[in-house]
Amino acid sequence: MNVTVVRADCTDFETPLLVVNVFADADPLEGPAAKVDEALGGRISDVLRRGDFRAKPDETLLLYPAPGTLPAERVLLVGVGKRADLTTDRIRRAAGAASKEALRLRIPRYATLLHHAELVADRIPPRDAARAAAEGAVLGGYTFTEMKSGDPPARVQEVTVLEKGEEKAREIEEGVRVGTVTARAECFARDLGNLPGNVATPTYLADAAERIGREHGLSVTVLGRAELEAEGMRAHLAVSAGSEQEPKLIVLEHRRGPEGQKPLVLVGKGVTFDSGGISIKPAAGMEEMKFDMSGAGAVLAAMRAIAELEVPVNVVGIVPATENLPSGAALKPGDIIRSHLGKTIEVVNTDAEGRLILADALSYARRFDPAAVVDAATLTGACVIALGHHVSAVMGNDPALVEEIRAAGERVGEPAWPLPMLQGHREQIDSDYADIKNSGGRPAGAITAGWFLREFAEGLPWVHLDVAGTASGDGKAPHLTRGSSGVPTRLFVEWVLSRAG
Ligand code: MN
Ligand code: ZN
Repeated sequence: MNVTVVRADCTDFETPLLVVNVFADADPLEGPAAKVDEALGGRISDVLRRGDFRAKPDETLLLYPAPGTLPAERVLLVGVGKRADLTTDRIRRAAGAASKEALRLRIPRYATLLHHAELVADRIPPRDAARAAAEGAVLGGYTFTEMKSGDPPARVQEVTVLEKGEEKAREIEEGVRVGTVTARAECFARDLGNLPGNVATPTYLADAAERIGREHGLSVTVLGRAELEAEGMRAHLAVSAGSEQEPKLIVLEHRRGPEGQKPLVLVGKGVTFDSGGISIKPAAGMEEMKFDMSGAGAVLAAMRAIAELEVPVNVVGIVPATENLPSGAALKPGDIIRSHLGKTIEVVNTDAEGRLILADALSYARRFDPAAVVDAATLTGACVIALGHHVSAVMGNDPALVEEIRAAGERVGEPAWPLPMLQGHREQIDSDYADIKNSGGRPAGAITAGWFLREFAEGLPWVHLDVAGTASGDGKAPHLTRGSSGVPTRLFVEWVLSRAG
């Protein structure tokens, strides 16, 4: 989808659909909404007065202008709630609602105004409002139809933001560019997540990374089984032992920062299908385990966006990828592995596999001498129980970095909530037979998983995001769709942008 900014007046712009955002407490209507209302002979004020449309967040109402009144064929009202409560999150959601409605109507293009944001420009700069609106428009228009046969699906191809002021149009253009690039990348992460395990294999992820590298000027290195063996990535290899798919370690490097600048490192769990291995999962819902590579998808997507935006910071993306399947060769409970870092791990549960591949990936990250490392993983069911589906968990060994990541997520509507890491939690993963064991049981399962990773991030400023509850879902929010959400692509991009100043 393209989002463009056109300097035109909403009352003489020809479009199949004109989107007008309306405040719940807009009485009387102001700015362009008032102009559209006037052109429509007061229809908007009328539906507001009748209470048929209350302009609650995400509420929509379709109006058909009488011939000769507006050149727009349809007008879509989208509620954004009370003026004092407007946030970039609401702007993103409203734009998502507009795209979803355009999809339903099978309208390939529509025009929209940002006047609601204009009215609160003292709180939300036009650039930020435009970025959120572009993100919402692209994300709300997302559909996953790659695996369906039949007629080509409806798509929203073009969204036009109407803005008359020259200076403001420039600012809006900047925001639109960042929002469009980021959201398109997030849609790519969704595609990777939604693709099934028999398609999106570790090799598929590696090929996707190489394509991103070629198209956007990133250098990409892929380690296969032989290289992983030579490198001593024994924890990663142990997880892949039950699978016929070759494990891969994918490294993408974006070197646009000053020479010698220590890179930011993003690490994403890429378990392309997690059956649990010998500690096999119950059958019900196991198909959702194709989403167990969501951290990897977000890292690949964020690296693509960072390259497209030419962010002047050095960034390295690392994706350990494998399947987790049972077989005669599979990793078994009780097995002890010597990890890449050298610490020995007693595997008490083969379904706690993500932390094994991440342990080796975090150890591997040391060679880049990182300024900071952030990993994202659909790591624990315990995280879903603790925090549900609307917020990720964040924890780490550096409180300032934890706060930085939390704040970045909040700014872009991908919130993360800090969990405590106490010494008692650490003791839950003491092993009788090895240096550490890979599961501390059910109590505080998200935190003990974090502690496990922390042991392998020793000496690095490191933060872990558990996205098990947020990376996929029912897609009820207007900017989401059932299946993969692409979380935390926006958080990653925002963090790297904030480091660029
Ligand atoms: Mn697992
Ligand atoms: Zn897993």
